[in-house]
Amino acid sequence: MKAYNEHTYQTFKRNTVETIPLTEGLIKDVMPYFPKYIKCIGGYVDDSKQFWKSNYHWEHLCSMIRRSIEENLLDDRLTTCAKAVLANLENNPPNPITGYLAAKAMGTPKDITPRDQQISRWKTLRQSKKDFKTIITKAGIIGPGKDEKEHVSWYYCVAPVARPGTSKHGCGYALDIQGRDKKDNPLIRSVSAELGSSHIFDEASHVHVEFKNGVNGALSSRVAAANQKANKPVGDGSTSPNVSIAPPQTMESETALKMMCLIKEDPTDPEVNPINAEPTTYLQQAQEAFNSFLTAIDW
Ligand SMILES: [Zn+2]
Repeated sequence: MKAYNEHTYQTFKRNTVETIPLTEGLIKDVMPYFPKYIKCIGGYVDDSKQFWKSNYHWEHLCSMIRRSIEENLLDDRLTTCAKAVLANLENNPPNPITGYLAAKAMGTPKDITPRDQQISRWKTLRQSKKDFKTIITKAGIIGPGKDEKEHVSWYYCVAPVARPGTSKHGCGYALDIQGRDKKDNPLIRSVSAELGSSHIFDEASHVHVEFKNGVNGALSSRVAAANQKANKPVGDGSTSPNVSIAPPQTMESETALKMMCLIKEDPTDPEVNPINAEPTTYLQQAQEAFNSFLTAIDW
């Protein structure tokens, strides 16, 4: 496995990313294996911030629905639908009702509505994102021929948001890792799988990666550091004085197998099955890779 050793803790971790000691160790363990242009943009997120994030998405979606109506981007029929979705969202607003989108930091303002009301808001939000996605797809605002980068706000407002209070970011062993654009996601996924990630999936702008069981011991930063000292790249088949390196593996099949195991682990997990029901590219790729692995293997 290739160690780039291009990052320091400061260059890999965006400075807004919060950590607990577990997250900090994790970041240090994985960072040697990512090139300079790939960064960690999310780490530890406590419960109240997860609820805040849900309100941020609520406010953002409301504002984009209003925009689609005000700018006459929808025909009459779709406008009626969009107004219905908006009314449903506005039926259960946070308190204060606004300020999340314009916030300078995650967590403020603090919503004082009861938690069960916040959960039911998230449920409405989940359905509303689905409905509004159908609306703006039918209107041709997103979909075939529309570049995601150019129309990022539209894509973002209908992107799934995890149920607050259940994100593994609250456990400290989940990282959000981002490349230059989505084309870097396959690299992030394969590196993470090789590092022993227990769960990986694509989100709108990054890859969500969990290390429930820590980072694969044989590939930890200790090895990278030892190799760097010995001036040898990790994974070139050589060994450094005190650390043995895992033998080269057939990475493609191993990775595919691991990915499939992750998917099978908990198919009901809302984060594995995002709200936009269709399987993510990643799941499709994993399925395809796994299928070709099965046909290639000599039983
Ligand atoms: Zn995440």
